[in-house]
Amino acid sequence: MTPHPNRITLTTPSWFRHRVAALPECISSPEDRMRLVLEFARTNVEHDTGGPFAAGVFEIGTGRVVAFGVNRVVPSGCSSAHAEIMALSLAQKRLGTYDLGRRDLPPHELVINWRPCAMCFGAVLWSGIRCLSIAGSGQELEELTGFDEGPIHPGWKSELARRGIEMQEGVLREEAVDLFRWFRSSGRLVYNARQG
Ligand SMILES: [Zn+2]
Repeated sequence: MTPHPNRITLTTPSWFRHRVAALPECISSPEDRMRLVLEFARTNVEHDTGGPFAAGVFEIGTGRVVAFGVNRVVPSGCSSAHAEIMALSLAQKRLGTYDLGRRDLPPHELVINWRPCAMCFGAVLWSGIRCLSIAGSGQELEELTGFDEGPIHPGWKSELARRGIEMQEGVLREEAVDLFRWFRSSGRLVYNARQG
């Protein structure tokens, strides 16, 4: 075992850095935003740089791209390096605040290629985003891929609404399910905990 570390660093892969640098400033349609999230998720798997999940933070209204994230659990050796955590943290770093809902900022949306897991649901609530856009929320993700998404709060949708976070569900649903099917057929690692 190494001495107690005093720093943790999470990084995006090199293909990711080239891709975000080439994105347009704004992406106005919800479908185009999700299409891009699905592209990032698939590319992450193709490059073996993480799991089949990606997320993007956008300004609501203009669709200005603030930050993207992809799953980095295995390459980072960090079980919480989910795409949502990466995207929200990079957006907060870029804007210099822990609160994406700060009054002097435009409202922000988080786009994810499926319902957030138990951990990321909490991260969504703490982040200050005002809208959550997802491709779907059913059992397909767990059934098709074998990932354990954890004990989702049964009232998760009403808890979002209670905090003024709008939800948009079913954006490019079929394309998202196809991605999970393709991931399963690729035979790649499903990195749940408790495997040993
Ligand atoms: Zn998660």
